[in-house]
Formats: sequence, structure tokens, C-alpha cells
Amino acid sequence: MSRSTRRPILALVGFGILVCLTAVGLWKTSGELPDYSAVSIQPEGIMGTECQLTAIVPRGREASAAPALATAEAELRRIEALMSSWLADSEISRLNRAGTAVATPLSAESLALLREARRLSDASLGAFDVTCRPLIELWRRAGASGVLPSEAALEHARTLTGWRQMRLRESDVLKGDGEARVDLGGIAKGYGIDRAAETLLAAGVRGGVVDVGGDLRIIGHGLDEGPVRVQIRSPFEASTWGEIALYGGAVCTSAHYARHFEIEGKTYSHIIDPRSGRPADAALSVTVVAPTALLADAWATALSVLGPEGLSILPRNEGVEALVFHGTAASWKTVTSPGFPVLIRNSSAGSTDGR
Ligand code: AMP
Ligand code: MG
Repeated sequence: MSRSTRRPILALVGFGILVCLTAVGLWKTSGELPDYSAVSIQPEGIMGTECQLTAIVPRGREASAAPALATAEAELRRIEALMSSWLADSEISRLNRAGTAVATPLSAESLALLREARRLSDASLGAFDVTCRPLIELWRRAGASGVLPSEAALEHARTLTGWRQMRLRESDVLKGDGEARVDLGGIAKGYGIDRAAETLLAAGVRGGVVDVGGDLRIIGHGLDEGPVRVQIRSPFEASTWGEIALYGGAVCTSAHYARHFEIEGKTYSHIIDPRSGRPADAALSVTVVAPTALLADAWATALSVLGPEGLSILPRNEGVEALVFHGTAASWKTVTSPGFPVLIRNSSAGSTDGR
């Protein structure tokens, strides 16, 4: 799971509420929806980032939101406990510790997510690949020590990366090499957001938002209040680039500014290009809209690796659309998939160039 500190999405407007997702995270109710109330909780210590769960309930029934929000929070914590590679007891950490040619039994849920991750590796032509954890760890160590990895270490980590090292079987995973490891940091947050949103729906909540670190899934069933407006941050300033309007679904952002490290004065992304074994540098920030947070999360990471050229392989038939910021601090540009511009509401977002 990711350990992000700065929120990629600045604000979310809708349901008659204004949500300001700055570092402090503020909710404001404007009272435009007289029949409904927004009830939210901000549970701490989930996936290393800020989290805000909101249920829109009929006015006067605010108390009914608490149990629903509590089950959604519990669902997020359950998925983190199962899949985080930051937690030594998780199933994924157990798999990562398994030795050469050892089969690790996994829950049907973890196996299903790994299968979906493998499908996304194929769909993204190898740009999204959860088996690249040996490379992620190598670059994390490099960031901590301030010394670039040696070519030999890079080559070794590359040989440990790839699905040939992780055979997904009926009820277990067989590792080719004991040092091979997976990292669900680019997909499990999205999956968890979806599960939490489904939990809210199952508890009878008809409208709401699950927001983990600025990645969101919107529930809007049965409310006629119009779209939810989500503000997208500029890649270089803590200001809004523009606003998009969504009637449901998810929006996730992968951003260089959110998490990077520095070696010898040069900044490197926390996202690795599994093909070269080096930190990705084809995009500054990527925002993806999709029916599920799982898809939006994974494709934001994939497009961070592929850059603008990746837009041509985006599965638009699955409802996935994207906005890519690329270039340099001195001169950046945006490029979108064909279906993204119709989502943009704020006219100032028409600016496609920085500076
Ligand atoms: P995000 O910030 O959502 O794009 O997720 C990035 C996280 O996904 C990183 O912190 C890693 O844990 C993991 N990751 C990095 N590079 C890749 C990649 N190419 N494919 C899949 N996961 C990755
Ligand atoms: Mg992601």
C-alpha cells in the first residue's frame, strides 16, 4: 500500500457539500441539499495516508450513518491487514518471505486480486507489474542511502521481476526464486476503496464518497443532486488545475510530486518502469477516471510509466479515461484520452500548458 503524504486531489465538490482535501482535510456543508446530510469520519492509520468516508443520508437520520461508516472503515482495515507489504503478518508478506519453489496458500480474495494484477500487466504491456517489488526495494534503498544502485544489483532485481517468478495456481502461489516478491501498492488501495464503497451500499447508504489519500470512489445511487465535482491539482503548485464532474465511479491520481526521492540532486519517482528497472519519468502526474477504483488506481500507475503514449492502449471500452501531465517544471503540458475533456467543468481547466 502506498505511503503518501500529500494529497493529489485538492477538493471535491458535490452533494451540496464542499470537501477541501488539503493537508488538513476539511469538510464544509453548504446546505444546498436541504433533504440530506453528509456524515463523515476520518479514521486514522489506514494505508499510511488520510482517509475520509462519507455517507449522504436523509436529514434527521444522521445516526443511521455511523454503523455503515464503521463497517466501511473495518473493510479498509481488513484489506490492508491482508494485502499490505508494510505489515509483516499480511498474506502478501508471507508470500514474499516464502523460499525458492515453495508454494504459499493464499485466500481466494488475494489470489483473485493477483490474477487481476497479472491481467493488468498484460493489458499495460508490462508497465503495471506488481512483481517488480525487488526493483522497488532496490530504489527505496538507493533513495535512503543517496547512492545509485550498481548495474549488477539492477540486473539481479530485474531477473527477480516478472510473472514467471510467481505461478498463480488454484489455491496457492509457487515462487520461482525465493527473492521474488510482489507489491500491491499500486492496486490494493483502489481495491480497498471499491470494497468499502460496496460495504456502504450493502448497508443501505445511497450516496457517499470513499476517499483514501485523495483517491476516491463515488456512490450516487438515488440522489438527483447532479454530479460530484472533483478538483485536480497542478503538478507544481498546491493549486487547482481544474475540476471534473462525475456521476459515480472512481478517480485516482499517481503523482511525481506526491512521493519521490532524491539522489545526487536529481528527483526520482516512486513508480518503477519494470521494463527498464529504473524509476519512471514519462509523466508528472496522471489522473484516471474509471468505473472502479481498482482500474483507476492501476491505470494511473501504468500511465505514469508509459506517459502520453500509453493513452492509445487505455481500455476505453471498460470506461477508463485519463489526463496526463508531462514535461518539465518550466514547461509542462496536459494530454487526455478522447473521453476525458467532456468531464472537465471548470473553464480555467482549459489551459493545457504550464507557465
Ligand atoms: P500509485 O502511487 O498509486 O501510483 O502507486 C505506486 C505504488 O505502486 C508504489 O509505491 C509501489 O508500491 C507500486 N509500484 C511502483 N511501480 C509499479 C509498477 N510499475 N507497477 C505496479 N506497481 C508499482
Ligand atoms: Mg495507483
